[in-house]
Parts: sequence; structure tokens; C-alpha cells
Amino acid sequence: MIKENVLKIFEKVKISAEKSGRKFEDIIILAASKTQPIEKILKAYEAGIRYFGENKVQEGISKIEALKDIKDIHWHLIGGLQTNKAKYAVKYFEMIHSVDRKELSDELDKRAKKENKIMPVLIEVNVGEEETKYGVKPKDLFNLYEYCLTKENLDIQGLMCIPPYSENPEDSRKYFIMLRQLKEELENKFNKKLKHLSMGMSHDFEVAIEEGATIVRIGTAIFGKRNY
Ligand SMILES: *Cc1c(COP(=O)(O)O)cnc(C)c1O
Repeated sequence: MIKENVLKIFEKVKISAEKSGRKFEDIIILAASKTQPIEKILKAYEAGIRYFGENKVQEGISKIEALKDIKDIHWHLIGGLQTNKAKYAVKYFEMIHSVDRKELSDELDKRAKKENKIMPVLIEVNVGEEETKYGVKPKDLFNLYEYCLTKENLDIQGLMCIPPYSENPEDSRKYFIMLRQLKEELENKFNKKLKHLSMGMSHDFEVAIEEGATIVRIGTAIFGKRNY
């Protein structure tokens, strides 16, 4: 089942990438593997997935450890991060998608220095300004970005968002456009290119790619419904 799901997603990603003038290889397909056991993660790997995203540091580390002999597997932290877990996030993950406040950037920078590492990060934007969601408010993004730019051991590579949920994927489009425009505004204001837009999940990744996503985070459409 996972293999068929992955192949179907590859096909859809290819079509959406071409619609936006890009190629399949330009898009990182990241499997959101929270709650999924190692066996299922391996199935996705065998089907061709190389990027995995975990929400919780501890759960992620146990999977990273279990699969450490596989060299071409990439682990991203995509869930909200508590400052007191920053140390382990820096040590184990290749990218962190959820920087959303100054104190967290301070701590990540400090821990990255200790690890002798330049940590790739994305800034998470709360595009729907929802109380229940992580992310910096759009109006505070410039200030946070400017602050993060002063952090020597952080490499800010782009923006991430989770739009308000809606059955209709077209409802996400305006938020994806917003994130793309915010990225362009930052690029112009600070005269520095940003590589990534991490946006799009199982139900709306095609729309996200059409609007410029470089990383899509897909859980249910690969693994089926999650059992918590
Ligand atoms: C779970 C999760 C996803 C994937 O969600 P699906 O709807 O299952 O595709 C993407 N991003 C984040 C941050 C998540 O927590």
C-alpha cells in the first residue's frame, strides 16, 4: 500500500512541478512520519522516499538512531520546538522547519556553535493567525528574520507554513501565495535569496507546488491514517 501511495504522489508531484515550470527533482518530498513505526518508514524508503519529517525531538531521535546505518536518509524536524530541546534538535536533525521566536533562535545558535555546526533552519509563519498554531505572525516576520540573520551559526533557508485546515485544497492557495510573497519581500529587502518554501500536506500539496513549494510534507497520503 505504501509503495503504491508513494508512486501516485511522485506522479502528481511531477505534473504539478511542470505546471509551475519546474522539474520533479526540484521538489523535496518529505514523508511526515510522526507516530509511524520503523517498518513503515522503511517501506516508504524502499519506495523511493529519502526525506522524513518528525514532530517530536525524542520520537525523531529514536528513529534516527534505529536507521543510522542508512546513509542517504535525511531527517527534518517539522513540529514546534521547545527551547529546552534545542540542543538535541541541532545535534540530530538536518533541518529545523519551526523557528518562530527570538529565544528559540538564540538557543539554536548557541547549541549549533557548541556542535561546531551551521544549522539550516526555516522560519514558520502562522499565515492564518490562528491561536492554536505555532509560527510567527506575518507582521512580525521581518523583525524576526532580521534578528536571525545576526546569528552566525544559523543558516536561514526559507519559510514554512501550515494554513488553516479546509476540506477544499483551493482554500489553501491564498496562504501559499502569501508565504511566497513574504519570501520575495524578504529577499528584496535583505538582498539575499531564500531557497525554500516548505508548504503543502496530503490534501493540498499539488496546489502548494503550483504556488512554488520546494518542500512538501506528506503524511496520511503516504502512510494512511495515523494511530495515536
Ligand atoms: C503531520 C504533519 C504533516 C502531514 O500531515 P498530513 O495531513 O498527514 O499529510 C505536515 N506538516 C506537519 C508540521 C505535520 O505535523
